[in-house]
Amino acid sequence: MAEKKYVYSFKEGHAAHLGKDILGGKGMGLCEMTAAGVNIPAGFTITTEACTLYYDAGKMIPDYVWNDIVAHVHEVEKEDNKEFGGTGNPLLVSVRSGARQSMPGMMDTILNLGLNDITVAALAKVTGNERFAYDSYRRFILMFTNIAKGHPRTEMDKMLDDLKKSNGYKLDTQVTTEQLKGLVAKYKEFYKNIFHEDFPTDPYAQLKEAVSAVFRSWDNPRANVYRQMNGIPYEWGTAVNVQTMVFGNMGEDSGTGVAFSRNPSTGEKQIYAEFLPNAQGEDVVAGVRTPLHIDELQKRMPDVYRQFIETIKRMENYFHDMQDMEYTVEKGRLYFLQTRNGKRTARAALKIACDLVDEGLIDEREACLRVEPKQLNDLLHPTFDPIDEKKHTPVLKGLPASPGAGTGHLVFTAEEAKAEKDAGRKIVLCRAETSPEDIIGMVNAEAIITARGGMTSHAAVVARSMGKCCVAGCTEAIIDETKKTMIIGGKTYTEDDIVSVDGNTGEVFEGSINMVPADLGGDFGRMMEWADKYRRLKIRANCNTPTDAENAAKFGAEGIGLCRTERMFFAEDRILNMRSMILSDTTEQREAALERLRPYQVDDFYHMYMSCPDYLVCIRLLDPPLHEFLPDIHEDDKIEKIAETLKVSSQKVRDRINQLHQANPMMGFRGVRLCVAYPEIYRMQATAIIQAALKASKDLGHDVEPEIMIPLTGELKEFKYAKNVVIEAVEGEMKKENHVLKYHVGTMIEIPRGALQAGNIAKEAEFFSFGTNDLTQLTMGFSRDDAGQFLPYYYDKKIYEFDPFQTVDQEGVGELVKIAFQRGRATRPNLLVGVCGETGGDTASIEFYDKVGLDYVSCSPFRVPLARLAAAQANIIHEREKGKK
Ligand code: ADP
Ligand code: MG
Ligand code: MG
Repeated sequence: MAEKKYVYSFKEGHAAHLGKDILGGKGMGLCEMTAAGVNIPAGFTITTEACTLYYDAGKMIPDYVWNDIVAHVHEVEKEDNKEFGGTGNPLLVSVRSGARQSMPGMMDTILNLGLNDITVAALAKVTGNERFAYDSYRRFILMFTNIAKGHPRTEMDKMLDDLKKSNGYKLDTQVTTEQLKGLVAKYKEFYKNIFHEDFPTDPYAQLKEAVSAVFRSWDNPRANVYRQMNGIPYEWGTAVNVQTMVFGNMGEDSGTGVAFSRNPSTGEKQIYAEFLPNAQGEDVVAGVRTPLHIDELQKRMPDVYRQFIETIKRMENYFHDMQDMEYTVEKGRLYFLQTRNGKRTARAALKIACDLVDEGLIDEREACLRVEPKQLNDLLHPTFDPIDEKKHTPVLKGLPASPGAGTGHLVFTAEEAKAEKDAGRKIVLCRAETSPEDIIGMVNAEAIITARGGMTSHAAVVARSMGKCCVAGCTEAIIDETKKTMIIGGKTYTEDDIVSVDGNTGEVFEGSINMVPADLGGDFGRMMEWADKYRRLKIRANCNTPTDAENAAKFGAEGIGLCRTERMFFAEDRILNMRSMILSDTTEQREAALERLRPYQVDDFYHMYMSCPDYLVCIRLLDPPLHEFLPDIHEDDKIEKIAETLKVSSQKVRDRINQLHQANPMMGFRGVRLCVAYPEIYRMQATAIIQAALKASKDLGHDVEPEIMIPLTGELKEFKYAKNVVIEAVEGEMKKENHVLKYHVGTMIEIPRGALQAGNIAKEAEFFSFGTNDLTQLTMGFSRDDAGQFLPYYYDKKIYEFDPFQTVDQEGVGELVKIAFQRGRATRPNLLVGVCGETGGDTASIEFYDKVGLDYVSCSPFRVPLARLAAAQANIIHEREKGKK
């Protein structure tokens, strides 16, 4: 069997059609630049597959891979006419890590590898610069010790500092050659003391150790944290690049810098670059010296500058995207060392994609793929004026739970938030954590801060759905809602203080910062048009209030995929009737209380219809367990108050609270189960829905088509029971009004039995909507509120790698989605199928739902643009895949 190839020279890479997956981002850039005829130092890439092999072999580089590495070193020697470890013209290399995506936390680059006591003398001789040779040697020993062997660099840095101090030097450049030689000896002695062996003199031993260190760094804690945060699978592995060293620090005709082919902040078509004369890349990154404007290169070396501009243009035409490059000039000769598609702000991303289409470099489909859907969020909300924000330093940092920005006085309770807002003041709601009762406060706040809770905490989810700026999980803040204080590092903030909250970064500032409004014009609008042209999935929004619905329409939703009715019951005047319903002893009493609630519901639903995009509203009947509408058993004040207003004994309220207490409400008396026990609740809601729809139809002059959704179904007979309750109410009402509307009754699929029974349930259900939040909880067997306690251990041990509540778990939950979809459609070919859980607004999940073949996804209004673009990307990619087959 021919052995698989694990090492490719930069010249071979392009023709082998391997891509980033195998070569890593940096390796692919180097191979492609070679193919594009850009001048780069010779070298080769050891593939990501070799990394996997390294781990499989028990952290060893297998001999046949090593032999191939050595063979490639020989090739480089030939090409450069140098010798690795040679005494004439010694070859020095850099060893650079490079995963598929650039990843901070991975091993840093080692420069000048190949130096030892013999080659350093040779280097001094060929360059005619002994000082340079020993400085390179010193740096190499330091980097090898620190980066390859993982020993902190502090002591070695101190040796240099002490040397400078004792001689009264200010700059590294003042250190003499003899002193550098002394330092090299000291470094080596230090190395021996720590590792109980001599510093490796054999360049091949150095190389083997450095390559292994890159592979090992794939599994270090920093890299693991970054991977988990950014959804990069562990299996990917990293590639390693070995490349001939070039030196930007060989005098005034040398230098180094970085360049962007267009402006990464604004997207403007104009090269954006810096130049640092007589320096190595390291010096720039370490911030030791400040680079100059690129004009400096033009002044000093006009020929090199011309070549520089020409090469950058060539690269853009080759890669068809904005490039972020590193370059070095060695004695008047220009080399490029790295290129990648440059990171950019959301605004720049849109402008560049649109410009590239206009320049004929890419088509509209490709343009859709060039913008990260998540980035669009940054553009939908007013933001702080970046210049003013720079003048402030954050006092607190939490999780950027919901984007946007807000400034106002601190308040600590929902009631105060409302009162202050009514009085015309801007406020920031500050809570230890939030619960459904805080919603009224959140509605009235400019921004929300919580001390506890993660990205899917109540505050985060609700704030995102409202498009409110929210920073959650500010663990450094002590928030006391009774004392109305927030303590950060010993400083106490009260209601007299104004703070500014940046939901894009998770930062909180003292004082107020100026705002700039959101801009949905120009390039944004153009990109959205393209997205709509190329997507197959429809996009709806989850909306609980008419304001949500207006936002949804503004952002281009094609209907409401989920309108939760319970949120409508929490307002003060309504919760009373809700409580009275719950405290009823007889069906008659319950019906009377419900009857008092009905007009509110009719009014709410009517307004939903009138403000909804395309007048398509899917309303879900009551879902939460009833105890959520009553206070906790220990809240004596609240209990007394309820008893008083409803004219019942407080004991009765207590009894009912105790009676409603459930060991596990998530799997308790809720959803359709409420209907099976108390059909009058759904009867009232169905009546209200149809009354609202009839009124809206009349006022609009055309019929709306209500969708009524029953939550938590697991069984056909159960669904049928609830459906009959709904139908009776609806039909009765339509008869009364003498106006027949087309309407649909369907269900959420959110318990595994419901998914498995989908073929049966679809006999009666006209549509399915996957509630992936509950479906995930019940499939994985863990609750969303508790998963935060143990998931980090799973991430750590790579058992689960991502939060399944944000990105659908394709193998488990996703499998149930597929099964339910297929079985449902087999029974009812025109069954409408969508998703209304959190994952409906997640890029990777949308890709999956498109592949499965669902009709739509529904997400919070502010995620609608993201979803439109993500759906377009999914469809474009899937069509390309099909085309290839
Ligand atoms: P990073 O991914 O952190 O940018 P790099 O591998 O690009 O790491 O290297 C860090 C620095 O070393 C950069 O400034 C780069 O230009 C420089 N460098 C890397 N390889 C070489 C080389 N062969 N010759 C000269 N400089 C190099
Ligand atoms: Mg780099
Ligand atoms: Mg649910």
